[in-house]
Amino acid sequence: MTETVTAAYVHVPFCIHRCGYCDFTVIADRDDLLEIYLDCMEQELKRELIQPHEVNTLFIGGGTPNYLPAKHLERLLKLLRDWLPLTSDAEFSMECNPEDFTSDRMKVMSDYGINRVSLGVQSFTDAHLKTLERGHKPEVVEDVVQRLRDYGFTNLGFDLIYAVPAQTILEWEQTINAAIALSPQHLSTYGLTYEKGTSFWTRRMKNNLLQAEEELERSMYALAMEKLEQAGFKQYELSNYAQPDFQCQHNQIYWNAKPYYGFGPGAAFYLDDVRSTRYRSVTGWIKKVQAKESTISSNETLDRDLAAREAVMLGLRQIAGLDTKSYEARFEMSVRDLAVDAYDEFLETGLLELSEGHLRLSYEGRFLADTVVAEFL
Ligand code: SF4
Repeated sequence: MTETVTAAYVHVPFCIHRCGYCDFTVIADRDDLLEIYLDCMEQELKRELIQPHEVNTLFIGGGTPNYLPAKHLERLLKLLRDWLPLTSDAEFSMECNPEDFTSDRMKVMSDYGINRVSLGVQSFTDAHLKTLERGHKPEVVEDVVQRLRDYGFTNLGFDLIYAVPAQTILEWEQTINAAIALSPQHLSTYGLTYEKGTSFWTRRMKNNLLQAEEELERSMYALAMEKLEQAGFKQYELSNYAQPDFQCQHNQIYWNAKPYYGFGPGAAFYLDDVRSTRYRSVTGWIKKVQAKESTISSNETLDRDLAAREAVMLGLRQIAGLDTKSYEARFEMSVRDLAVDAYDEFLETGLLELSEGHLRLSYEGRFLADTVVAEFL
């Protein structure tokens, strides 16, 4: 029987400006498309869902969803309320940027039941925000957090980036401390990556941007793990930390390979063992919706072997690791069957650990997660 879908992702592609490191589905300087995007979102929801579908986690990501002016945001949230109603204990998240985060937008978010805000803080050092081409100043974060709390948002998460060019370990520590001082419920920390096709990629090639040394990046990751644990956060995924009971439920749907819907340009979804992605080009997605054609640009069926390999990748990213018994029951094979030599070697060298029925990366293994996981893919 098909597994019930309890989660949905909705992509809002608008941003003030495309940051140099960003390779998400984003469009800047096209406010003329706001209404058209919402018309198309309405059509896509209607066409794909046919009737309203209740979900337990709903995640509005971007782009910058709070770039939408209050009246557009309200229209989007109204659509979602109609088509993706929430269960009584649902998690309803929205990604937001501190820049221009006006109170009328916060009010709309509160009125429509958003109960988790993920804030793109990235850094508390002005120079690094500039390098990352972010539009806010560090000092606005405190004000935004205060106003969000005044509107009743009690579940706040911050995204932070480390290994920014020229960032010292001391500056990273200051950013971590400043984040902790604002008492968020959740923190995600990501090492800066240079994706092909971004301006950061080109600038690095031309030696115009100096990538952080591997050793420094490793020390920064170690520092985040140490300091956040001291501050009462529990690391539950390689890059994610939460206060007790504040893990992001929506992301856990992805990591546990559960089905989810996805709407909007570039959105991925996973239904009946097929992973699909919608057109990344915002104008391309709009054209497809308007022409009443499929907005799916690619489909990949996960056969048992591929699903088994992905389950290892997703399971090992979680600090609790993989439950080996349920893995074996589900895939009728063991993790070791996928890569016997690598499996034995990683256990022997201590990058992997097996205890209490769970296979997980050791502390040391977390630094080499990509290398370990690659052997099972
Ligand atoms: S604000 Fe976020 S989504 Fe928008 S361009 Fe910058 S990194 Fe990308």
